[in-house]
Amino acid sequence: MAHVLVVGAGLAGARVCTLLRAAGFGGRITLVGAEDEPPYDRPPLTKDPDATVDLRAAMGIDVWAAADEVLLATRAAALLPGPDDLGVRLVPAVDGPAAVRADGVGPDVAADAVVVATGAEPVQPVAWAGPGVHTLHTRADAAVLWPMVGPGTRLVVVGGGWVGCEAAATAAARGARVTLLEAADRLLAGRVPAVVGEWVAEHLAAAGVLVRTRAPVEHVEAALGVPGSVPTVRVDRAVVPADQVLVALGVRPATGWLGGSGVLRDETAAVVVDPWGRASRAGVLAVGDAATRWSPRARRHLPGGHWTAAMQDPEALVPALLAWLAADPRTRAAAWRAPAGEAPDPVPYVFSDLGGPMLQVIGDVTAPGAVDWHTDASGFTAAVHDDAGQLLGLCAVGHPRAITRARRLLRSGGQDGARADLAAVVG
Ligand SMILES: Cc1cc2nc3c(=O)[nH]c(=O)nc-3n(C[C@H](O)[C@H](O)[C@H](O)COP(=O)(O)OP(=O)(O)OC[C@H]3O[C@@H](n4cnc5c(N)ncnc54)[C@H](O)[C@@H]3O)c2cc1C
Repeated sequence: MAHVLVVGAGLAGARVCTLLRAAGFGGRITLVGAEDEPPYDRPPLTKDPDATVDLRAAMGIDVWAAADEVLLATRAAALLPGPDDLGVRLVPAVDGPAAVRADGVGPDVAADAVVVATGAEPVQPVAWAGPGVHTLHTRADAAVLWPMVGPGTRLVVVGGGWVGCEAAATAAARGARVTLLEAADRLLAGRVPAVVGEWVAEHLAAAGVLVRTRAPVEHVEAALGVPGSVPTVRVDRAVVPADQVLVALGVRPATGWLGGSGVLRDETAAVVVDPWGRASRAGVLAVGDAATRWSPRARRHLPGGHWTAAMQDPEALVPALLAWLAADPRTRAAAWRAPAGEAPDPVPYVFSDLGGPMLQVIGDVTAPGAVDWHTDASGFTAAVHDDAGQLLGLCAVGHPRAITRARRLLRSGGQDGARADLAAVVG
């Protein structure tokens, strides 16, 4: 019986398990996850800490119905090298219950295919860690941070990316005194056009957040862990007082366990995959935040890092996985064939809730190009286009239909008279 090992029990891994079964796969599925939580949804952790996030309860995605084994609190430590046989070394995650070999390094689990769905992990300088200093990536992180953030709490957020901006908005709504420090000259730098970052800064300021850009944090000193001691943040040779500090410096793909496995990763450590999710080593596929997927339409690799990719990209991966499993095991590694037809190639889409307004981003909004900016009582649209008027991407608040129109145009990729009539997109 074919055995598929899915490593990473987040949204992408859970979707692979359920879509495999929905496609009629009758073999064995093992899902391995480092956290000791049932698979859950991350976006509410910054926006609505009291929301139900369990994937089964919140979204009906039931990994226990799909997988034969769900091994939580279990970490993949290595993808074993070897030209033919695929295997993964499993170890207990901290304090986890996984079975360990007597020498403390196993067990090694063989599989016919391995899906890398290990997501990403937050970047945090080691010297900054300690009492009062937080990251916000897991449900466990949220359970520690949010009870400490209430009326009057001095919260310093280091980093004005998605997580930093959303957490700042949520904390301000809870009555905290929030300072947001960003090293760049604007918020969401490298993620949205400058004008959108400026809009977000104004919005957060109006919500009561003290926003400081061009404020590179030099050091965060954790509290001493004794009553009355608080963490401190040094910026511009001054010390910003805090009760709690949230370090939100972004994430990197959690693929360290693939070192030495022969699986190609890019400079960010993301697994490089084709439109079907196939990695450079036969029988290994990757999806979600851990992967960077070749997009034929964009003619470049598109990193994960957003919810929609983790949700949608398993739809391309599963046919490729089934084609691999159906091929002759003696010869399939020599010529790993793609399924017939074209892979779905969804247009990248990110949503962000900034404490009320939903910012939607579709397409490639950081590509070089001009920005067509419209603002009105509902919010704004910022359409990014090239010299020829071709739409590259759109950011919008309060204009969901513009996002729908932009998605249609971007999907057709310049075919179909898709040259952006910007008025048609945003009007
Ligand atoms: C606080 C927060 C808010 C967000 N908000 C938004 C939003 O508003 N909009 C949006 O588009 N995106 C948002 N995102 C991003 C989105 O949640 C992610 O893109 C999505 O969760 C990626 O899913 P994934 O399954 O690839 O990875 P993950 O959800 O990270 O799951 C990967 C799992 O693999 C596990 N794992 C890691 N290493 C190993 C190992 N070696 N062995 C076994 N298991 C391992 C991890 O513990 C984790 O449980 C947010 C992310 C965070 C953290």
